[in-house]
Amino acid sequence: MREKVTIFWFRRDLRLHDNAGLYHALTSGYPVVPLFIFDRHILDVLEDEDDARVMFLQHTVQHLQAELAEDGHPMEVHYGTPERVWRQLIDKYDIAEAHANRDYEAYAKTRDADIEDLLRGEGAALLLHKDHVIFEAEEVQKQAGGAYTVFTPYSKTWLAKLDSRVDEDADGGPVSFYLKAYPCGKYSGAFAKRSDFGPGTPCPSPADMGFGESPVPIPGTTPVEALIAHYDQTRDIPGVEGTSRLGMHFRHGTVSIRQWARRARALNATFLNELIWRDFYSQVLQVHPRVITESFRPEYDAIAWRNDESDYERWCRGETGFPMVDAGMRQLNAIGYMHNRVRMVTASFLTKHLLIDWRWGERYFARKLLDYELASNNGGWQWAAGSGTDAAPYFRVFNPTAQQKKFDPKLVYVKQYVPEYGTAAYPAPMVDHAAARQRALDTYRAGLARARAEGSR
Ligand code: FAD
Repeated sequence: MREKVTIFWFRRDLRLHDNAGLYHALTSGYPVVPLFIFDRHILDVLEDEDDARVMFLQHTVQHLQAELAEDGHPMEVHYGTPERVWRQLIDKYDIAEAHANRDYEAYAKTRDADIEDLLRGEGAALLLHKDHVIFEAEEVQKQAGGAYTVFTPYSKTWLAKLDSRVDEDADGGPVSFYLKAYPCGKYSGAFAKRSDFGPGTPCPSPADMGFGESPVPIPGTTPVEALIAHYDQTRDIPGVEGTSRLGMHFRHGTVSIRQWARRARALNATFLNELIWRDFYSQVLQVHPRVITESFRPEYDAIAWRNDESDYERWCRGETGFPMVDAGMRQLNAIGYMHNRVRMVTASFLTKHLLIDWRWGERYFARKLLDYELASNNGGWQWAAGSGTDAAPYFRVFNPTAQQKKFDPKLVYVKQYVPEYGTAAYPAPMVDHAAARQRALDTYRAGLARARAEGSR
């Protein structure tokens, strides 16, 4: 008879330490076979062959597999669709249970429900755990019940909840129960042994999956503690290294959100606040999945967007004639990253000055950002367009020139990405700010009035 195993399915949690789902798998009582699937449903629709995120994933998974192999543990790594891969695993192993960390995006929910059904048919369960966020939607609710749609009260309840249960950390000191580390290392002996289960399956190369190498550098995770200590003073200045650049690592779980929230608490309240924004947008997506395609405020879907394709192309290339916008778009195109302040400026410019549907900008960011995260990207875009939860009011139109003067007065950031700025080679502004602002106000006002009139009919 074959020995029963537990499968741990890595997805957005690519680490062996402080990993909730992995901890539960390792303490299940069965040998643990780790699994990663390069999912063709996701990879086949990526537009760029040199997508740096695929490279990063491939390197990270290969590294995980090598680390486990050093201690004699096999890892299953596959390129295919989850349904097909899981059928192969069912043939190969006698699966007692499977564990994974919860993913809140629509595709992931459907995928997990399908695999859960498949496993149930085999007499095994897929057990999902919280790991990607500090609090899931139902954990931070209004006193009267229901989800928050405004950030400030949400953040107050979030912080109060953090202290509502205190536990002991590994050294016996007090720690918020919700930020406690999962001691996976202590149970690493529970991984399946190569001598009993064979060598696993080799990690495919990017070329095996139809991808090439990318020149885009991947930000590291050290040493950002020093920077975080004065984050509140540097975070708004795009010309300095003033933010953590951890976004990509939070997205793929190469760092633990609990560990960084613990550090943030000790180091800088403003930084912790940003991590709360991350949970906030995650809960918006959990409670209102319709925001993926619709404006959170439905009346904003009545706005008559201009959607001029050549304007959009100029914005994508960073040739608008507004240096802060152009520097941001060129930064995004060059390194898959854009500073938060500049994300707000470029998003406002697209949706207000050019009157292009926020969904177009959201799609472009999704294609380019290394730290792309559906919930935060959608939240950021709907904030800029005025259509989201707790959004900037529609009549607040960023002045890109004033923003540059305030946050990049010496043109440090602009000159880094737009070297021809100030020469004849730099394009003239594609719109007049005052006229474009007025056009945006008129168009938004008319759209919202139309929606109101239709709603009252
Ligand atoms: P830091 O400033 O060091 O912040 C630390 C972490 O806090 C970030 O890595 C992120 O996980 C979280 N965080 C910070 N600000 C926000 C925020 N406003 N909303 C949610 N989480 C936040 N963030 C993404 O992670 N993925 C996206 O796809 C994304 N798209 C955005 C699109 C627009 C239009 C806007 C305005 C913002 C977007 N953000 C997104 C939020 C923010 O810009 C990035 O999280 C941040 O710039 C990433 O850089 P960092 O890691 O250095 O962040």
